[in-house]
Amino acid sequence: MFQQIGLVTGLKNKCERCGSTLGVQEVVEKGRSVFLCGSCRMGKRITIRDLLNEVKWDKRHDPESYSIIFIHRTDEGDTKEIPYSSITEIGSGYFAYSYMGDEATIPFHRVLLIINRKTGDILIDRRVRKKSKKEH
Ligand SMILES: [Zn+2]
Repeated sequence: MFQQIGLVTGLKNKCERCGSTLGVQEVVEKGRSVFLCGSCRMGKRITIRDLLNEVKWDKRHDPESYSIIFIHRTDEGDTKEIPYSSITEIGSGYFAYSYMGDEATIPFHRVLLIINRKTGDILIDRRVRKKSKKEH
């Protein structure tokens, strides 16, 4: 499907489709050079729920290092960051957290970023998709 043109050694290349930094490689798609992560190269569509569960169960991830950044409804246009460890429930369309006296349920569509604060690895960056939508 893709013509691979080589491994990218730079640590923080971002997937142009989902914003992930995991396994990003430069490939040629429809005659254009694009950076895609491992999942997107395989045509997988990864959901926020998949990623939250992956951090929880996949031993390659250290949940203590991860943060979730999402749109904060009470402060329009503003974002809030909570540690992954404050998540109390992962539902089918939302997650719930309890953090510093603040308890809320956040629908997945408000999640902007899942990031490992220790390594800088990003699992998903929704801002990438929003930006590219605007451009096309
Ligand atoms: Zn991707």
